Amino acid sequence: MPGLDFTHVSHRFGETLAVDDVSIGVEAGELACLLGPSGCGKSTLLRLAAGLETLRSGRIAIGGTVVAEGGAGRQLPPEKRGVGLMFQDYALFPHLTVAQNIGFGLRDKSGEARDGAWIERALGEVGLAHLGERYPHTLSGGQQQRIALLRALAPNPGVLLLDEPFSGLDEHLRQRVRQETRAMLAESGATTLMVTHDPEEAMFLADRIVVLDRGRVAQDASPVEIYTAPANPFVARLFGPVNELEGVARGGTVETVLGPVPAPGVEDGRRVLCLVRTDGVETTTTPPDGGRGYVRARVESARALGPASWLLLRPMADAVSTRPPAAIEARMPGIDLPAVGSELWARATEEQTFVFALERN
Ligand code: ADP
Ligand code: MG
Repeated sequence: MPGLDFTHVSHRFGETLAVDDVSIGVEAGELACLLGPSGCGKSTLLRLAAGLETLRSGRIAIGGTVVAEGGAGRQLPPEKRGVGLMFQDYALFPHLTVAQNIGFGLRDKSGEARDGAWIERALGEVGLAHLGERYPHTLSGGQQQRIALLRALAPNPGVLLLDEPFSGLDEHLRQRVRQETRAMLAESGATTLMVTHDPEEAMFLADRIVVLDRGRVAQDASPVEIYTAPANPFVARLFGPVNELEGVARGGTVETVLGPVPAPGVEDGRRVLCLVRTDGVETTTTPPDGGRGYVRARVESARALGPASWLLLRPMADAVSTRPPAAIEARMPGIDLPAVGSELWARATEEQTFVFALERN
């Protein structure tokens, strides 16, 4: 299987710099996700790799062969790149049967290993045996999604490019279909670059996640690293609400409304931003060690979310300033609703707290 490499790729649409000096490499057989909010340049990168946009600056190579190069460089046409594509609106051809849809990309190929027998077997493997003669509109959304993926896989592409392939499905179905998709992709062995704006989806599917922020790579790392060691506030904020606490580093620690937070290696007097995930606020009514490292807080609101509970806490005293302390959001597993107005102890757990030195100005 070939790898897919972007080297110093930039792309403009008029005044908009959609992709800004991106260099990433997807290794052979790897499943990488491009993750980021709407408009950050994910689809543009995919379309550049597919050859649906003309590359103006930088270089894209598949299996070590340059397929697109800026300037007057080479631009291999899409059909010569050996890539499979599946887009957001993966619309199957309504007038073709399931088998004809899957075989669509095989029509013009001669001597390909994949044929009717492959389609039969592939349908069987994804639990859709005997649906080959049906028409798309008679199938569920999840079945249609799997067929669109088989259509992209049928020509046995070395590289698969998937743009938000689950966005047409409701939440419940997405979770099921992505498991099946993961299995199908692993089976195919194709080098895959998938676009999503859903961090959990990226975590679930990817071997590696490339986070994009306004056209630039914000972090390129394993899913676990992206979650546990975000490189900057943008990446830390991807996974849901965070409490944003500012303070000043002193002796490798910063005092916050949630108590002391370690800030190793940050010089004294430097302002820092502490991002504490709502899951990272620990509460207790019986703190160990007489409450050292904890702060007292009053419960302002407590709501059951189902699998978790949400609390709004008001720290009682602010070690940092004389201003009334900001409210803190906390999320804990299970249903555990302390009485509104009651007091408890709270602290920021180290694993879910991220400290970033702020620019001096
Ligand atoms: P994403 O897929 O991450 O949502 P896109 O790659 O589609 O983002 O778009 C990145 C930026 O480029 C956005 O600001 C978008 O409006 C702009 N853009 C994308 N395609 C075009 C186009 N064909 N013409 C003009 N601007 C575009
Ligand atoms: Mg997009």
